[in-house]
Amino acid sequence: MFKDDLLLGKRILVTGGGTGLGKSMATRFSELGADVIIAGRRLEVLKAAAGEIEARSKRPVKAIQLDVRRADMVERVFDEIWADGPLSALVNNAAGNFIAQSERLSPRAFEAVTSIVLNGTAYCTIAAGRRWIEAGHPGNILSIITSAAWTGQAFTMPSAAAKGGVFAMMRSLALEWGPKGIRTAAIAPGYFHTEGAWDRLFPEGAISQPVHEELPISRMGDHSELADLASYMMSDRSSYITGECIVIDGGRWLSGTSGFATRPLFTWDNQRWDRAREEIAAAR
Ligand code: NAP
Repeated sequence: MFKDDLLLGKRILVTGGGTGLGKSMATRFSELGADVIIAGRRLEVLKAAAGEIEARSKRPVKAIQLDVRRADMVERVFDEIWADGPLSALVNNAAGNFIAQSERLSPRAFEAVTSIVLNGTAYCTIAAGRRWIEAGHPGNILSIITSAAWTGQAFTMPSAAAKGGVFAMMRSLALEWGPKGIRTAAIAPGYFHTEGAWDRLFPEGAISQPVHEELPISRMGDHSELADLASYMMSDRSSYITGECIVIDGGRWLSGTSGFATRPLFTWDNQRWDRAREEIAAAR
């Protein structure tokens, strides 16, 4: 669909780029000619991913350790990145999520999700935005959210709340930073299988049927479909799009399907939830 040099000359940071959808997007950006930097907490995972991407794209990929929850670390890492030149784009993809009964969430459990998704996205967004504005340099920010940002979602309240905050952040900054040459948008993926994330959302018995069967387009998303959409959003061809969220979910939210938290969860007692908590902890 795209020419191989679509993203030539672009320098793109993908947070959470060492696994799952972040890795798939980073791979596609690199194949399309971008200089890609992937960041996350586990350096070994990032280095292995960078090696795999390089083998496919034949382009260097930089792996940087970064905990987006730590504003001081974000500033230091962005200084390091900018020392080699400005980024063209930032992809806020890092996240954490797990199912839980909201009334039993501790403040720590709530913050385990919101500190990554809302605070981490804000720290990275502000760090990039300030550097672009100071230099009069254009910028492009893409945040990976979920339709739960506007529909809400049972049993994943902290994630829905934080993603809703990110959506409002992207819209607010589209207005405030648009005149400064910075565009901010979002993508809301539906069901895309990724390791780890899915174990935390679908422990044994949490769903009664394959989740995708209830969708209007009754299949899972393919990572390459999301990666191509994100590549379009990284390219100059999308430069008139700002403040918008593009949904890629096979019609999931439009059809009102119940999301990650499906029927069986409403029937679980506290003991079953305790067992799920152990399964989720083991999947981390
Ligand atoms: P994933 O594989 O678990 O990816 C999450 C990534 O975030 C990991 O690489 C993780 O690396 C990184 N991360 C977590 N905490 C971090 C922190 N404090 N600082 C820096 N990096 C951190 O999950 P995924 O399914 O690919 O999800 C990617 C994005 O898509 C997320 O924003 C998610 O909400 C969104 N999404 C996914 C789906 C889906 O069906 N998969 C659906 C809707 C939305 P470390 O642990 O090494 O830090």
